[in-house]
Amino acid sequence: MTAAARAQSKITYTSADVDWEAFHREFDGALEHVRRQLGREYQLYIAGEPVASTANIIVDRSPIDTRVVLGKFAVATGDHVDQAVGAARAAQPAWARRDWRERVAILRRAAELIRERKYELAAIMSLEVGKSRLESMGDAEESADLIDYYCQQMEDAGGFVREMAKVTSVERNTDVLRPYGVFACIAPFNFPLALSTGMSSAALVAGNAVVYKPAEDAPWTGLKLYEVYRDAGLPKGAFNYLSGHGSEAGEALWRHRGIDGVVFTGSKEIGLKIYRGLSTRWIKPCLLELGGKNAAIVMESADLDAAAEGVTRSAFGLQNQKCSATSRVYVHESVAQPFLTKLLEQTQALRIGDPTERDVYFGPVINAESVAKFERAVAKARKEGEILVGGGRLTGQPFARGHYVAPTIAKLPLTSTLFLDELFVPLLAVGIVEGLEQAIAETNKTEYGLTAGIFSTRESEIARFFEEVEAGVCYVNKRTGATTGAWPGAQPFTGWKGSGSSGKGGCGPYYVAQFMREQSRTVIDA
Ligand code: NAD
Repeated sequence: MTAAARAQSKITYTSADVDWEAFHREFDGALEHVRRQLGREYQLYIAGEPVASTANIIVDRSPIDTRVVLGKFAVATGDHVDQAVGAARAAQPAWARRDWRERVAILRRAAELIRERKYELAAIMSLEVGKSRLESMGDAEESADLIDYYCQQMEDAGGFVREMAKVTSVERNTDVLRPYGVFACIAPFNFPLALSTGMSSAALVAGNAVVYKPAEDAPWTGLKLYEVYRDAGLPKGAFNYLSGHGSEAGEALWRHRGIDGVVFTGSKEIGLKIYRGLSTRWIKPCLLELGGKNAAIVMESADLDAAAEGVTRSAFGLQNQKCSATSRVYVHESVAQPFLTKLLEQTQALRIGDPTERDVYFGPVINAESVAKFERAVAKARKEGEILVGGGRLTGQPFARGHYVAPTIAKLPLTSTLFLDELFVPLLAVGIVEGLEQAIAETNKTEYGLTAGIFSTRESEIARFFEEVEAGVCYVNKRTGATTGAWPGAQPFTGWKGSGSSGKGGCGPYYVAQFMREQSRTVIDA
């Protein structure tokens, strides 16, 4: 990275004040560098050593063009899980005994390394999961900020050691938060660096060891995180990397007796399975951040330009594959027509294509399964309502070799289950409502409770929205993304209801403490 690029301001998902020419130059250079590494073979990393697997490999193909093989990744089996948990158990006590300031120093070094490598990391994510340049850079920057924010939590709490009150004059009481031991860390594909980094760095800084399994569709980004921790000086065995399948390595990992807790981000279905099955002998911490079915409400008083832009960005950024993406809109009947006109205009103006190219906003979905899910949902939407824009696969150049579908908007009756189920494909459901009461009631009908947004200029409506909406992350009049764009230290990312297990989110001030258990220490002075 050049000095000019390093000096640039931080680039988040919604940055505007950036030297774009310098950004694109650096990105082009990183892409070229990354493309020279395509097709290599990679192993597992257990106790700091590469470990081969005789199981079938994962051939990691780009969703942009499936002929492009990014790498061939070893597939972990139950035996590898066993070895990795053993390595983590062996490394953890010494890691926990270190002064917490040393752990913080190593993790802060990891954050610096991510910043130094951010263009390479962003280029890999763009190729591997089809993120636009800006989305992938946001993911890399967020990862570094997450680590720093979690380190700061240790510092602010003085390592979570606190003098307590005395009940008698002869006692000294101290309250200490201590790590649980070994955490299984299982990550989804869509923020392959930020979520993996956030979950694992919080576990590590608290003094736990980690066995990490990235998503099948993003093993390369996951391996880069392993390299960051290794180069930052994390001791061998504290972070073990197992590429592999959820049904085998993932399942064996959370079920392993040597695991003291699970931190998982992914679908509600898998999260609930883990939650129900984890605590058989005693109750283990199970930190789950799950799906969403996030609504934006557009009221009569709204700035309709802001609403149309905010909804479009949030619905079609990363092809609606964000847990926070707006996937449904409830618009007041009196402004439905003008709002929809603007929404369609905005959507039709989106630049669709190869997301590694500059200025492309909308790329492919992650895999063939997602394309099939999109097609099933669109068929249902056609039957139940009206497709206003999109509604099919994209063909011809440059789409023919990748998993491309059109950004799609459907007007649907409020009874449609397309308002309730998380699809994770770019299909935005629009419903017409008579007022705020109905809009909030519809919003709260889902089993999810992650993010929600409203566009309104009436204070009373905004107050009622905050009070009654069942969601952990709420936004008002957010033009840069109606329900998206949370950042560490700014918007704690907490899922209510079926969207999470702990009521305290990543990016928030209570996160690190969840990876520790309390020990009360009373010493009676002789
Ligand atoms: P997923 O649940 O299919 O997979 C997530 C991870 O779990 C992957 O690593 C997968 O291999 C693994 N897995 C699958 N089956 C498993 C099993 N039986 N045991 C253990 N591990 C298993 O999710 P995905 O498709 O990768 O990601 C999309 C989902 O993640 C969406 O539901 C999205 O809303 C959610 N998500 C939530 C947040 C949040 O912060 N709340 C953030 C990002 C994504």
